[in-house]
Amino acid sequence: MLRCCLIWSLFFVLSATVVAQDSGWKAGFSRVVITPEKPMWMSGYGGRTHASEGKVHDLYARAAALQDAGGKRVVMVSLDLVGVPKVMAERVSAAAKAKHKLERADLMFCCSHTHCGPALDQTLTHMLDMKEEDWQQVMANQKWLDARVTEAIDTAMADLKPARLATGVGNCGFASNRRPPIGTGPIDHEVPVLRVLSADGTQLRGMIFGYACHNTVLGFYQWCGDYAGFAQLYLEERHPGATALFFSGCGADQNPLPRRKVELAEQYGRMLALSVGKVVATEMSPVSGEVTTRFREIPLEFSMIPSRDELAKTAESADRYQRTRAKLFLKDIDAGMPLAPTYPYPVQVWKLGNVNWVALGGEVVVDYSLRLKRELGQGQTWVTGYANDVMAYIPSERVLVEGGYEGDSSMIVYMQPSKWKAGLEDQIVATVKELTKP
Ligand SMILES: [Zn+2]
Repeated sequence: MLRCCLIWSLFFVLSATVVAQDSGWKAGFSRVVITPEKPMWMSGYGGRTHASEGKVHDLYARAAALQDAGGKRVVMVSLDLVGVPKVMAERVSAAAKAKHKLERADLMFCCSHTHCGPALDQTLTHMLDMKEEDWQQVMANQKWLDARVTEAIDTAMADLKPARLATGVGNCGFASNRRPPIGTGPIDHEVPVLRVLSADGTQLRGMIFGYACHNTVLGFYQWCGDYAGFAQLYLEERHPGATALFFSGCGADQNPLPRRKVELAEQYGRMLALSVGKVVATEMSPVSGEVTTRFREIPLEFSMIPSRDELAKTAESADRYQRTRAKLFLKDIDAGMPLAPTYPYPVQVWKLGNVNWVALGGEVVVDYSLRLKRELGQGQTWVTGYANDVMAYIPSERVLVEGGYEGDSSMIVYMQPSKWKAGLEDQIVATVKELTKP
């Protein structure tokens, strides 16, 4: 009887293997160092007064290429950076289209939002009090970064091999809602995970995982991927040969608390890596079917556009951020470029088997992931924030009405003309739903 059961179990294992191999997925991975080679200005905090001083560990661009049975290919890029400059995503996409025939919708650019990475082109850069030569260095480094990200995509594409894909969801508890009163607002502690095994199921080749929390344990002068950087490195150390790619969820109003010590970044990284490790070690849902991709930019409206006279007055403000923003706008207006009343906001959806993987631009507050999961299906909806372009905070209607940093004042450091106009939450959610339709 026991022998019979064992034989049947073996039969099912082998059948599962054959079925998985027949599903036709392929996957490829890469990891490229993007730590600046010389000290330079860091991004994320406007209060820094000088360039970087050494590193805790290297920063990386990682890429995962996936190909379904029909030959459709997509690449997800994970960057240990504070944001994804729109200009970088466009330049790298153009190169990927020329080389690999990948459309814009087939590329998803994610970042960890570490505040211990380099200053970037056109993303939070004007909040920094830099001299002209510092600006030159940032622009030169951006050019190098673009080339490194392109290299990561090329290497992952060249690594495509038959694979087994599966999804699951874990849990990790260190994120707290940071809006006052701290720790009382909504949270999203889920950890969505995509596991990639070799075709025979014996080798773990890659893990893509997300978490909704600011990657801001640290704010000092050393290069560091923060908790997300530690989580990726722990997983890669624990599973030699595997690549671990992090994406930020809707953690714009979430902080890792307490913070500001390297030991805490290590601890949260370990906690997140353990959550991912637990998911990949248990039974997961195999990904069958295909991957489909949609990408659209929608015009998000600002609540008001300041006049030239108002800007001229603000250009004399005692507040450095207000002053910088007004001067930038005046320069544009005087060059014949009036302020645009809307921003082209990127919304992307990948359908990976039965998972709707939603990628939203900007620093997205937690209400979006909670609502989208509720309305599109719990367990089969993943929401990535900070994707494809990080141009501002994206408050929900609730947070917009409440105001504060995420709802209003952060628009100053992002150099946007005003807070968003009411109605953006429904506009974004409606677009996501439209893009999930077959
Ligand atoms: Zn942030």
